[in-house]
Amino acid sequence: MSDSDGGMRILLHYRGPAAGEWHDAFARALPEAEIVAWTPRDASAFDYAIVYKPTPEHAAALARVKAVFNLGAGIDPFLGMPSLPASVALVRLEDAGMAEQMAEYAAYAVLRVFRDFPHYADEQRARRWSPQRRADKSTFFVGVLGLGVLGQRVAATLAGLGFPVLGWSRGARAIERVTTFSGAEGLRALLPQCRVVIALLPHTPATAGLLNRDTLSLLPQGAWLVNQARGALVVEPDLVALLDEGRLGGAMLDVFVEEPLPADHPFWHHPRIEITPHVSGLTLVEPAVAQVAGKIRAFERGLPMTGVVDRERRY
Ligand code: NAP
Repeated sequence: MSDSDGGMRILLHYRGPAAGEWHDAFARALPEAEIVAWTPRDASAFDYAIVYKPTPEHAAALARVKAVFNLGAGIDPFLGMPSLPASVALVRLEDAGMAEQMAEYAAYAVLRVFRDFPHYADEQRARRWSPQRRADKSTFFVGVLGLGVLGQRVAATLAGLGFPVLGWSRGARAIERVTTFSGAEGLRALLPQCRVVIALLPHTPATAGLLNRDTLSLLPQGAWLVNQARGALVVEPDLVALLDEGRLGGAMLDVFVEEPLPADHPFWHHPRIEITPHVSGLTLVEPAVAQVAGKIRAFERGLPMTGVVDRERRY
């Protein structure tokens, strides 16, 4: 406790139309705390900070608290900031209602490709009636890059739909109904098998630009890329070139190097690219607030807290 009257003070930074909703939800969940909206000139003491898309201007305030809670699973906004002191725990959201949304999006994308819907959309525009042979599901391998909280849920959902699932992570993992790979060699072994590959990796120095001409060229002819994680994982001009060359079948993209996607970006009108505006896993107020409030209470009691970011790994 840092305030003179002994009460817990929490700094909340949320820019956007829902700011009032977040403030009220935290005030209800943590009635013992004073929730203070961030203002640039407030240099008073806080116990915790809760932030959504922080920028370097927040760094000084965040450096003075015991723990920073990020209202998202990815902590890449912090990559461009002066680093937080090691004594400040950086905590991310774990699932909090996002895993189910990610699984819905991935299932839609995979079923869409497997059942030839992009082909039928083209045929409808051309007024052609051309039923395709059913693809063999037992050889329709789907790759899930990233086997964390979200990737594991996506992998389980796709396995439940009957697809053979291959998964890739940094360290070796054993997951039921998923054939797992790890490390650079593992990626090169996995990609040539995947009819659809789904990115669910964090954006770190090790994953930036990972999906480039070299790696995407390992996919089989006509494969699809689905990116639900971060735009920076993909070298966007390489993707466009591989689609234009007919090497890849298509891409379903929820995230981009620059967001919102610039008006003149080639993705907007590319016939083999489908885009959504960073909505595959939205942060939901109630589950996110309940999770953060629970972690603050655990921290106050000296209990262990999950979701603490490893500063070396950067996720
Ligand atoms: P997580 O639990 O931290 O899992 C990350 C996974 O990626 C782990 O399996 C990890 O491997 C793997 N990984 C990390 N670096 C790697 C590398 N260099 N090589 C191979 N594998 C690597 O994260 P999460 O909660 O599942 O979230 C994943 C990402 O989804 C977030 O970071 C965020 O960027 C994105 N996201 C997007 C949206 C959206 O709306 N589009 C919403 C939420 C999250 P290990 O298992 O070996 O650690």
